[in-house]
Amino acid sequence: ISKLRDGHPLESLCDIPKDNIQYRPEEDDKTVFFKTYKPGKALKKLKDYRPDDVIELVKNSKLSGRGGAFFPTGIKWQFCKDNIADQKYIICNADEGEPGTFKDRVLMNNHPGLLLEGMAMAGYAVGATEGTIYLRAEYFYLKEKLEETINDFNKNGLLGKNILGIEGFDFKVNVHMGAGAYICGEETALIASMEGKRGEPTTKEFFPVEKGFLGKPTVVNNVETLCAVPRILEMGLEKYLKIGTNATPGTKLLSVSGDCKKPGVYEIEWGMKLKDFLDLIEAKDPHYILFNGFAGEFLSSVDFDREISGENLLAEHIQFSFNDPIEYSRKMSGVGLRSGGSFMVFNSTRDLLSILKNITKFFVAESCGICVPCRTGNFLLNKKINKIMLCHADKSDLDEIKEWSTIIKQSSRCGLGKTSTNCLLTAMLKFPGEFQKCLLAESDFNQAFKLEKAV
Ligand code: SF4
Repeated sequence: ISKLRDGHPLESLCDIPKDNIQYRPEEDDKTVFFKTYKPGKALKKLKDYRPDDVIELVKNSKLSGRGGAFFPTGIKWQFCKDNIADQKYIICNADEGEPGTFKDRVLMNNHPGLLLEGMAMAGYAVGATEGTIYLRAEYFYLKEKLEETINDFNKNGLLGKNILGIEGFDFKVNVHMGAGAYICGEETALIASMEGKRGEPTTKEFFPVEKGFLGKPTVVNNVETLCAVPRILEMGLEKYLKIGTNATPGTKLLSVSGDCKKPGVYEIEWGMKLKDFLDLIEAKDPHYILFNGFAGEFLSSVDFDREISGENLLAEHIQFSFNDPIEYSRKMSGVGLRSGGSFMVFNSTRDLLSILKNITKFFVAESCGICVPCRTGNFLLNKKINKIMLCHADKSDLDEIKEWSTIIKQSSRCGLGKTSTNCLLTAMLKFPGEFQKCLLAESDFNQAFKLEKAV
């Protein structure tokens, strides 16, 4: 993060050396969900379940997409099962490209077998016989490990034909490498890329569970989501529902980076208080916290003392308190996760405008370019931030940032464009002083205007 100001690549944010999941010691019994995995144990239990039972179990567990969309997994599987087709597919979305998010990488590195079991179960439930792990290009080094595990599973009868003697339960898995485009984490772009087409999102005429890969019903699930299923089946629904909160049972992996003593991947029980989490990672001076990734919003130390509200719709995004629980939320208030779980901490020495400049630069680079507002809008916003940083901007520039952000939000095709300005808008709303102090004074502005006219 200290390198942000020098314009170093954003990847430095994700460069976390630790590859172990960290746990909260006093709650070991509840947050060792992934750690206590024993290979093959859950798959062996599958003999006692019909496909419908598996879907029912997943529905009752309230498991929702851990990649950030939080769509109920059981319902997605049900839709796919109900679509009759000669071939169906399971795709694991391992294109983990959100800056500050690296929990899928750690999960695949630590428990590759757990992912394969989750994929096989999804295949069993919906009637798919083929699965693909779409692996982020930057995770190339994991390919060998995943393929070795697939081979081991094939040898041990945990993948292949008539798995574990269950008649007609056939499932095979392969690994497909991404090519380094962030947008291919969006499911329709991911499928297009797998089909050899340009990786750009399509308008959602059909959902992948209706017409997905090669036009066949396809389930696309995130790594963490698929890994959760075998553990739920193994531990039993009753025990699982005791973890977390009523609305969001279970645990969540959070990727922590930035100004704290203990960055890394944490498994927390849903509902953990923000304050306790900050203590756990030893963030002593959390001035800005970038929550929910680059498409997310800032929490700030200021919010913890007072509630902020404003006319802007976004104001409801930003009411937080130290004592708020971390949980998945569609309400857009409280500490609600709406991303894969990135948690970036910046202390009071960090420069907000530099952070924002890098964020807009990221979206300029990663926009697939098909929608004009997303392609050009983010470019123009990046220029505006530059202008503010050079102290050449005035109030009208701030107004234009707000107007253009609304246009980008309303007219972009996919989530990247729709959310690309969230950080910038919440920052403007919460930290107006950071922008105001860089604006030209009115007298300077008139002077500059006169000069410009004269020239
Ligand atoms: Fe591509 Fe941006 Fe449009 Fe999404 S919003 S389809 S990334 S141009």
